[in-house]
Amino acid sequence: MEDRELIEELLNDPDLSDFKWIDPRSVSVAQWVRVKCMFSCSDYGLGCCPPNTPSVEECKNFFGEYTSAILIRFSQFADRRNYPSDWSKEMTSKLLELERRVFLLGHERTFLLNQTCCDTCKHCSGNRVDCLDKKNARPSPEAFAVDVYQTVRNAGWEMEVVKENPSHFHRIAILLVE
Ligand code: SF4
Repeated sequence: MEDRELIEELLNDPDLSDFKWIDPRSVSVAQWVRVKCMFSCSDYGLGCCPPNTPSVEECKNFFGEYTSAILIRFSQFADRRNYPSDWSKEMTSKLLELERRVFLLGHERTFLLNQTCCDTCKHCSGNRVDCLDKKNARPSPEAFAVDVYQTVRNAGWEMEVVKENPSHFHRIAILLVE
């Protein structure tokens, strides 16, 4: 990847330093992820979540248009009933700035799949057209049908279902670069 060193300098932040370059072809896209969005996720219908995202087939094609990606892992200890939303917003803001700076290096296709569902607004529009922050709203990998567990394992990291609460947990973002 051209500019790899320059991009890694942009990742020189303690919150962004846990990353791996991956081949986008190793991103696992699966129908079961979409089914879980539809039938077991309380965020279904938010403006950056299904059904406001491309079909599973289109998501597969999307990853096929890239030759480089960066998997970024975030770690936090938290209680599910008291999710650290301020921390999450801060990480999203850092990722958007990273995406912007990589784009400005000349990588016009750069696109961020955020570490969380978009939670910018108290009352989400529930669709793309009426989104209240179109410029900054980004989908999560899961909203693009990414099997995050398998994708992380394909990259040589471990990831298991978090069984206890409160607990240590990871969030995963993917920055596609071309
Ligand atoms: S920016 Fe607001 S309206 Fe748009 S998807 Fe995010 S939460 Fe919904």
